[in-house]
Amino acid sequence: MGKGGMSHGESKDGEGENMAAWLLGVNTLKIQPFKLPALGPHDVRVRMKAVGICGSDVHYLKTMRCAHFVVKEPMVIGHECAGIIEEVGSEVKTLVPGDRVALEPGISCWRCNLCKEGRYNLCPEMKFFATPPVHGSLANQVVHPADLCFKLPENVSLEEGAMCEPLSVGVHACRRANIGPETNVLVMGAGPIGLVTMLAARAFGAPRIVIVDVDGHRLSVAKDLGADEIVKVSTNIQVCDYVFGSFTFSYWKTLYAWLA
Ligand SMILES: [Zn+2]
Ligand SMILES: [Zn+2]
Repeated sequence: MGKGGMSHGESKDGEGENMAAWLLGVNTLKIQPFKLPALGPHDVRVRMKAVGICGSDVHYLKTMRCAHFVVKEPMVIGHECAGIIEEVGSEVKTLVPGDRVALEPGISCWRCNLCKEGRYNLCPEMKFFATPPVHGSLANQVVHPADLCFKLPENVSLEEGAMCEPLSVGVHACRRANIGPETNVLVMGAGPIGLVTMLAARAFGAPRIVIVDVDGHRLSVAKDLGADEIVKVSTNIQVCDYVFGSFTFSYWKTLYAWLA
């Protein structure tokens, strides 16, 4: 979490210490105390109820790195999360204790040009849950800006709330690719991100969605979730065990979804 401290301490609700999943080394994860920062006027304290395990969390666990981010000090992992508001800061008007919320995991600076243009997801000063040295949210409780906590409708579970962050990747990809009722879609990769991209494309009105992977199980999940066509490809570039009929790539908008 963005403002999480590293030292140990008591939680504020009298229910004992706040605990979190700390990544201490390769394949070494321990539940240890995690001190919460003071609640700022625009912050909320959230009791975590559901936290997804992202591919990045797995990379950090196995190798202590993900892309160019390297874990150099113990770090709390997890960033796909939802929970219930326990306490709100003095200036928070939109949320009250008991609200069920999905958390947006990145805290941007709000001051740079990208933030001011509304493209705050690209902020170079981003403090993102579980991206070193920023702590994540696989904890009993976290403190987070109220602005980045989104109230869930009653028909959305906390587990589904935790999936809002990966789902947003699919929604963003579909917006960028201008997916609509006239757009056929090819999704490369049927991992979790490929699947949420497929679901988002369907919600955007895509009439025909083809999804490609090297893994038969992932493809069968994609089929169950509504893929029109699944294509199993070989990891050997010489071998292609599927001939795709009259499929002509040039007529299809290609939508890349990386395996998560
Ligand atoms: Zn993720
Ligand atoms: Zn910024």
